[in-house]
Amino acid sequence: MSATAALQPTLILVKPDGLKKSLTGNILTKLAETRMIIVGAKVVQVSRELAEAHYTHLKDKPFFGELVRYIQGEIYGADYRRVLAMVYRGEDAIRKVRDISGATNPEEADSTSIRGSYGRITTKGVYENVIHASSSVEDAEREIKLWFKPDELVFPIYPTKTVIREKITEKVWA
Ligand code: UDP
Ligand code: MG
Repeated sequence: MSATAALQPTLILVKPDGLKKSLTGNILTKLAETRMIIVGAKVVQVSRELAEAHYTHLKDKPFFGELVRYIQGEIYGADYRRVLAMVYRGEDAIRKVRDISGATNPEEADSTSIRGSYGRITTKGVYENVIHASSSVEDAEREIKLWFKPDELVFPIYPTKTVIREKITEKVWA
């Protein structure tokens, strides 16, 4: 990657096991060392629809149902049915975050990586690997657009358009 490499955005999720194991601070510290900047963050209770859309590339795998339950946090109890979703941006960001994360299978991941340090394989065979990181420019764009609206990022990293909607019901503070 050249010194003039374009700034890449990437989606990072601290998965429910990462939250349950109190790894958020540790993960943010590792991300800070890469000198990327954060452009968006929120805590999300993951709907089945969002989970299935996020992992659509795996929908034919035998572990897909368990994977959807995992990312929804179904197996950890009500307090952990959530993920921390973040968008970071920087030079070569996708590779940098994948490197910090480690290999998909926690048993094969470098032992100093997040997945190698803190991941496990469940008795049902799912890789409970603490963190999600986009794996290509195309995946990052698809995933960021799936998880975030333009206004939830500090600046629009992809082209936007304005639409006028009528009769939108919105909850406001009482
Ligand atoms: N996964 C799994 N078993 C597999 C492959 C994937 O449990 O054999 C889970 C794992 O949690 C992984 C997620 O499905 O992080 C998405 O899989 P992908 O191949 O996209 O790996 P990633 O991009 O997360 O490294
Ligand atoms: Mg992937």
